[in-house]
Amino acid sequence: MKWEGDRQSDNVEDRRGSGGGGFGLGGRSIGIGTLVIALVGSYFLGVSPTTILNMLGGGEAPQVAQTQTVPANDRETQFVRTTLAYTEDAWVELFRQQGAQYSPAKLVLFNNRTETACGQGQSATGPFYCPADQKVYIDLSFFRLMQSRFNVAGEFAQAYVIAHEIGHHVQNQLGISNQVHEAQQRASEAQGNALSVKLELQADCFAGVWAHHTHQREQFLEKGDVEAALNAATAIGDDALQKQSQGVVVPDSFTHGSSAQRVRWFSRGLESGKVETCNTFEARQL
Ligand SMILES: [Zn+2]
Repeated sequence: MKWEGDRQSDNVEDRRGSGGGGFGLGGRSIGIGTLVIALVGSYFLGVSPTTILNMLGGGEAPQVAQTQTVPANDRETQFVRTTLAYTEDAWVELFRQQGAQYSPAKLVLFNNRTETACGQGQSATGPFYCPADQKVYIDLSFFRLMQSRFNVAGEFAQAYVIAHEIGHHVQNQLGISNQVHEAQQRASEAQGNALSVKLELQADCFAGVWAHHTHQREQFLEKGDVEAALNAATAIGDDALQKQSQGVVVPDSFTHGSSAQRVRWFSRGLESGKVETCNTFEARQL
């Protein structure tokens, strides 16, 4: 997959490494303790915290930095930003063709666990989309896991995972997820699961549609890329990954369909490039 130098999305929210570090303060680092003293001091003494910080630090007037951490800008982060930008470019255009407007999802990078509007997100569940806050959540260690446990390598396989989650965002924007969840309220458990599978396979198909359009636009696919994505679809089918999520409300913990079904629907979207071919709900065969 060729992506270097292409546009990077601003819609990545980086929560990795939060909870550490002091506040940057005019070039020196200052611990939380000092800051607490300054804030408490200013509360009781009625002077500004900056004044007290100056007294404590003895320095010249400091400039309080607005951010705690410098955003990561390593290759992997750049890759995620660029892939997200590709999904934005493709879906903005595909929505526009239908006279609609695509509003991009945020993508949250986190380590271990993080709060979401859908409950606590955990690395063990794999990447997921939360419709309530319209964010995709990914712990990048998942990509290492794909490689070590499922022997799925290659950046396009990772891009496919992101595109699948964005596929859920597209379903949310189109009102499909809501319709499915309403139908599930009235359905038996078996029918409800069948609907979940159809939703998952449609997200795979949407990922294929995305790849089709992005390749048309950017010529980003290289030899072996599609096979790598199909390997990923095979490896993270039903049987593989999503079984560790008990007890946590994570929308993408539903059954995903068999590996063969995932491969079929991704391929269908990839070949056609058309959203209409992704109607898993009316397909005679999945
Ligand atoms: Zn999914």
